[in-house]
Amino acid sequence: MNKIIGILALFGGLGFSGLGGIFIIAGGSDNLTVGAVLVGIGLLLFLVTYLMVRTEASKPTLVSQNIQMSGSGEFREKAVRCPGCGGNVKNSDLKLIDGGIMLTCPFCGKVSALEEEPKW
Ligand SMILES: [Zn+2]
Repeated sequence: MNKIIGILALFGGLGFSGLGGIFIIAGGSDNLTVGAVLVGIGLLLFLVTYLMVRTEASKPTLVSQNIQMSGSGEFREKAVRCPGCGGNVKNSDLKLIDGGIMLTCPFCGKVSALEEEPKW
């Protein structure tokens, strides 16, 4: 609905300012007054369009995100730290080798096996 009004206002603005321009080009004191008024209306319509677009843009858009936990969710980013330097290691730095998780640290280059912490 707002979109239709916005488009109408935009085209109205174009029409009015175009028409006003013709009047101004035609010259004459009367024509200049009419032209100025028409251009004014056109600019007002442009302003309406601009304000509407801005209002539309400032509205919070509902973004639905599907967050999927990889695997059991045991190896979350924040939970994995390099045993060598203590740097945060991303999931992409983990590799599953022979059933064990090998960690390649992007910071110090240390390769180490991660032990699964026992759950109590
Ligand atoms: Zn490290």
